[in-house]
Amino acid sequence: MPAPDTIAALATAPGRGALALVRVSGPFALGVCDALFRGRSPLAGTAGGRAKTGWIIRGGEELDQVVATVFRSPKSFTGEDLVEISCHGGRSAGYVLEALVDAGARPAEPGEFTKRAFLNGRLDLTQAEAVAAIVDSSGRAAQRASLRLLKGALRERLEPVYTEVIGLHARTEAGIEFPEDLEENGARLREGFLADEAGGRMDRILGLEEVEGVRDRVRGIGEQAGRSDLLESGLRCVFSGPVNVGKSSLFNRLLGRDRAIVTVEPGTTRDVLEGAIEIDGVSVTLVDTAGLRDSTSLSEEEGTRRALAERESADLILEVRDGSRDAGRQRPFPGGETGVPVVAVLNKADLGIHRSWSRGGAIEVSAAECRGMGDLLRAIGIHLDAAPSQEILLTLRQRGALERAERSLDAAADALRGGGLPEIVSFELAEASRALGGILGREPTEGMLDAIFSRFCIGK
Ligand code: GDP
Repeated sequence: MPAPDTIAALATAPGRGALALVRVSGPFALGVCDALFRGRSPLAGTAGGRAKTGWIIRGGEELDQVVATVFRSPKSFTGEDLVEISCHGGRSAGYVLEALVDAGARPAEPGEFTKRAFLNGRLDLTQAEAVAAIVDSSGRAAQRASLRLLKGALRERLEPVYTEVIGLHARTEAGIEFPEDLEENGARLREGFLADEAGGRMDRILGLEEVEGVRDRVRGIGEQAGRSDLLESGLRCVFSGPVNVGKSSLFNRLLGRDRAIVTVEPGTTRDVLEGAIEIDGVSVTLVDTAGLRDSTSLSEEEGTRRALAERESADLILEVRDGSRDAGRQRPFPGGETGVPVVAVLNKADLGIHRSWSRGGAIEVSAAECRGMGDLLRAIGIHLDAAPSQEILLTLRQRGALERAERSLDAAADALRGGGLPEIVSFELAEASRALGGILGREPTEGMLDAIFSRFCIGK
């Protein structure tokens, strides 16, 4: 592999901000920075982990005042010499980056810093992917689960299983190639058999229970990540009900709660209002379709169509009725016919709940007086089934690989049980070890790494 060049990128989000961070990494990181940096002394003489204040100067012109922190190979995020330049946000960061590129750095590709960290053995692949997941977290529970990955939770669970599969595969191969040796050398003979009974040449080499055991452990790891969809994308919770029952008021109340408000903005693609809150660390997107009826540009039909589409894409529907008015004059609560769970809500409890409503079936609230909001949040929370503390959040790629490994181990067990050819068992075990190794980043291919790291944002 050719020597890596020196790369530079903005590590913070672009745009106006007090500060921004520009990262430079590679064998010439210090030299490239020193071509521009003017402080009390050059960065080349600065010890790892130390910061220096100074100016970035290009062609005699001061571009920005900065703090440069030096990290020396191998003790840096990438494992290479690395400089982090804290400069001012907004345009300044762009000028600094441009000057670095003029001085010989190459603009980094998406995920290239993390990719180098992986290639230099600073992170395994599960940790490298965790870096992206942390940044993309939808809520605290997701972020916590990704932090566990960064700390190596997946590797710790997976590595012993991977080693075991490799061992099983090696034994099977040895059994195929040198059945006599195995017998003579007293290889661990277990109950069970690798059936090739016709030839009778290599039974009692690989135990069915060994293969099933390792398959169950792979399955267990997958199951622990079973609810990660919810953590990843959060819960979409749509307000539904007739006009004027107080849907918008409830929407605003829930979003306006202390600490709950994150964003309230017109839905960009759906022409609905959306806002996100966090319940038990899981992101809950509240969707209010109320804006539709106010719009004169949309026909009522179109409004209804979109409201229906929202209901269909919802994970949970908050069905609201005016509790102060006669139940007989309003549409009854649906019974969850669509398959989407429904929380029944009676609003305007401050005006008194009309006697026509049967009590106990619905959450009684008052948006006007902000009553019952805790009950409502708890009712939503039940559908989140809060994540257990050991939950780990897997990427689609990782989940796919775990499933492939499980399928292959299942097929290997089937072959053992049904007296299939040892070659089939061996093939399936090899598939399983490849799938598991792929998660850990063993023998990665360039294509695989590109596929993973190109999904990162630049500067990561
Ligand atoms: P939507 O059409 O379902 O979104 O309903 P809105 O939120 O726009 O509310 C309709 C009307 O009901 C407004 O005049 C609100 O002030 C009023 N309203 C909403 N919630 C309550 C409540 O809890 N109590 C009372 N008394 N009035 C409410």
